[in-house]
Amino acid sequence: MSQKAYITTPIYYVNDVPHIGHAYTTIIADTMARYYRLKGYETFFLTGTDEHGQKIEEAAKSRGKTPQAYADEISGKFRALWDEFEISYDKFIRTTDAEHKTGVQKAFQVMFDKGDIYKGEYEGHYCVSCETFFTDTQLVDEDKCPDCGKLTRLVKEESYFFKLSKYQEDLIKWYNSDEKCVLPKGKKKRSD
Ligand SMILES: [Zn+2]
Repeated sequence: MSQKAYITTPIYYVNDVPHIGHAYTTIIADTMARYYRLKGYETFFLTGTDEHGQKIEEAAKSRGKTPQAYADEISGKFRALWDEFEISYDKFIRTTDAEHKTGVQKAFQVMFDKGDIYKGEYEGHYCVSCETFFTDTQLVDEDKCPDCGKLTRLVKEESYFFKLSKYQEDLIKWYNSDEKCVLPKGKKKRSD
């Protein structure tokens, strides 16, 4: 049986057109995919676009477009660029694809049926630009985002959570037993 390699770039966020950072990541992934194919691995190389989020809705609105029309346009630009670079992806996935939606629904249903998803409430300082919540101690000047410097909003919302704590022991066991579970090794170091 041949060995398998699965390679993916991040799925890129369509709030704006691609820049050199996207190309850098994609070219590295493409190089790895070609290397594994040469070695005879059964290789699957995925790239694509992430088309959900408040930032995309806002970017669309500011250009007088619907979120879907805007996502279609930007996603198309990513794909055209990779084709121009002859990036050897096996699949270009979009989070608005019907089959992606079905896949996500199925994954969530499995987790829900196992009791791993519960409803709770979350409150935090939210940066729309970075799509990230921050704690009090992470903020700069009490209310600014530590990553981009923009003003954060205090957001409280009902939300569904994944019961990660249920898997804590198993995860720790795995991290400790498998040398190669996180690479490069320096990234495995505990931060606390
Ligand atoms: Zn930010």
